[in-house]
Amino acid sequence: MINLQSDIVNLPTDAMWSAMQDAELGWVIDREDRNVRRLEELSAEKMGKEAGLFVLTGRMATLVAVMTTCRRGNQVILEENAHIVWSQEWGLAYVVGAFPRILPGRAGVLSPEAVESAICESRFKHRPTTDLVCLENTHNMAGGTVWTKAQTDAVCEVAHRHGARVLLDGARVFHAAIALGLSAADLASNCDIVTFNLTKGLSAPAGAVLCGPRSLIEEAYRHLGHIGAHAFHKAGMLAAAGIVALETMVDRLAEDQTRAKRFAKSLSELEGVFVNLESVHTNIVMADISASGLEAGRFLEALEERGIRAHKYTTGMIRFTFHRHITDSDADSAVAAVADVLRETRD
Ligand SMILES: *Cc1c(COP(=O)(O)O)cnc(C)c1O
Repeated sequence: MINLQSDIVNLPTDAMWSAMQDAELGWVIDREDRNVRRLEELSAEKMGKEAGLFVLTGRMATLVAVMTTCRRGNQVILEENAHIVWSQEWGLAYVVGAFPRILPGRAGVLSPEAVESAICESRFKHRPTTDLVCLENTHNMAGGTVWTKAQTDAVCEVAHRHGARVLLDGARVFHAAIALGLSAADLASNCDIVTFNLTKGLSAPAGAVLCGPRSLIEEAYRHLGHIGAHAFHKAGMLAAAGIVALETMVDRLAEDQTRAKRFAKSLSELEGVFVNLESVHTNIVMADISASGLEAGRFLEALEERGIRAHKYTTGMIRFTFHRHITDSDADSAVAAVADVLRETRD
C-alpha cells in the first residue's frame, strides 16, 4: 500500500529506534532527563526562542499555549479554518474560558487589517480584550499553504501594538521555512510562541514542542500539570528519537515538497480532476475530484483497490500528503491509479 493519507503514517528511522533503545532515562518531574532537556534546548535554538517544552501532541502544545497566555473571558483571534478551530473540541473555551473570535482568511492567511479591526472593534464603548492571535503555518486545511515572513510580521506587529501575543501553530513550520528558503527561527522571529510537531514530516514516534520566552515556558510547564500531562514518564525515550528527528530530518523535507509539486502537475493534466497548482506550496496536494462524478469516499475506495491510500477532505476533495516513505515511482503509481479510476468512471 502506498500511503499518502498523511505524513503521520511514517515510521521512526533506524537511528531513532537505536536512540530510543540507548536512551538513559531520568526523572522527568524534576526536569532531570538528559534527552528531554537536550530536545527542548535544540528546539528552542531552532526556533530562535529562549526555551522549549516537550509535550505529547501538537494539540496539547497549542492548548497549553492558550492556557499560558489567555485569561478567562478574553478573546483569542483565529482564522476560520485553523486546526485549533476544528480539531480540539473547543478546548480553549472549555479549559481556559477564552472566547474564540473567528476571522475569514485567504488560503489560511489573515490580513493585518482584519486582525486589527477585530481587536479594536467597540460598541457603546465596550471592547473585549484580545490576549492572543493564532497563526497556522503551514496551513493544514488550506492544503499546506505558507504564510510568508512579511505576512507573519504584519500580523505580529498589529497584535503586539495592541498588547496581544502571537501563537504560531507550526505543526509543519519546517515545511514552511524550507518552502520560503528561511530558517524556522527567522520565519517565527516575531511570534511569541511557536509549537511544532515531531511526528509529521520529521517522522519521530511521538511528541511536539512548545517554544518561547523562558518565563512563559516555565508557566506553561505548570499548566501542563493542570491537565495531568507534566509527569510524562519515560519521555526521554521519545525525546531521544525527537533529537534525531531535528538533527536529521529537517533538510530532507525539501525532497517531499519537490515530489508533491511534480505529482500535482501530473495530476492536473488528467481530465476529471482539478488541482490548483498555485496553492501547492509544500508537501500536501489537494485534488478536486467533483467533476469525476464520484463522491470522495467512493473515489478513495477505488484508489485503495489499486494500492493507493489518500485522505477525504470534503465530498469533492481528496488530499495527498508526501513524506519520507514515498518515492518518485510511488508518486507515479498514484497518478496512474487516479487516471485509472477516472477512466473507469468515464466508461
Ligand atoms: C497536525 C496538526 C496539529 C495537531 O497535532 P497532533 O499532534 O495531531 O495533536 C495542530 N496544528 C496543525 C496545523 C496540524 O497540522
